Order: sequence, then C-alpha cells, then structure tokens
Amino acid sequence: MPKWKVHILFNSILIFFWVKLLLSLNLVNDYIILMIMIFFNYFLSIFPDIDHSKSPIRRIFAVILACVFTVYFFLNLSLDSILLLPAYFVLLYILFRFFPTKHRGITHKFWFSTAFSFVIATTLGIIFNFSFIYFIVYFLFILSGYLSHLFLDMF
Ligand SMILES: [Zn+2]
Repeated sequence: MPKWKVHILFNSILIFFWVKLLLSLNLVNDYIILMIMIFFNYFLSIFPDIDHSKSPIRRIFAVILACVFTVYFFLNLSLDSILLLPAYFVLLYILFRFFPTKHRGITHKFWFSTAFSFVIATTLGIIFNFSFIYFIVYFLFILSGYLSHLFLDMF
C-alpha cells in the first residue's frame, strides 16, 4: 500500500476516536468547523511528504503553484507571449515537481509540525472566531494529524 494511503487510513482511526471524545465532552458546537478540522487533520497527515518528488501532495502543490504563476504571467504579459503560456506552465510544473529537496528534512521535524499546525489553527481561529478552549482543542486535533505522520514514518 502506498505510504499516503497508510497515513489516511491511520488518521481515519485517529479522527474516529477524536470525534468520539469531543462528542462525549460536549465540545462540538459547529459541524462545519469540525469538518474543516477533519480536512486539515488529513491534509497535515500527508503534507510532510511534500519534500518527496514522488508523493501525491507534491504533485498537487506543483500543479497549484504552476497555475498561480501561469495566471500571474497571463495578467502581466503582452498578447504575443501569451501563446507561450502552456510552455511556461509545463516548465514551472517540472521545476516545482522536481526541485531537489531533502526527504524527511524540515517538514518531518517536531518543531516544524508544531509551528505549522499552530499557524493553521491560529488562522482558522481568526477566521471562525474561536474561543480559547476551542483554539486549544482544534490545535491539538490538527497537530495530532501531523504528528501521526512523523510517528508512522518511524516504522
Ligand atoms: Zn514522511
């Protein structure tokens, strides 16, 4: 089974127990926010392998970044060079996809996983106006998703 599927499967079990716990503690007051947190838990469980050129998350990010830059070029180029846009897209995709990065480098560090989860939880907290207790709960919720990846990588 590919690694990312193992992470998704493991996190499905983790999320199941998290949701059970939150429901039993009466800590679910908004199911939309819970769904968003579940999404980020899954996302963070596969995110660390972005430093591996063969991982699906790297492919997705390469497409997104290539699109963003191509749109930027589209908005800033003259009409005749717009015909080159597909070539730009392909070149950018190859650049982002195969840019050499050390596998199991910074994205597999404990301090980075904590800081990254904290930034996401804080951003979501500002968007959805969490109270402090919900901020802590959701921070731990998504952090556990990230840490499960580091944990599974030990085997
Ligand atoms: Zn990994």
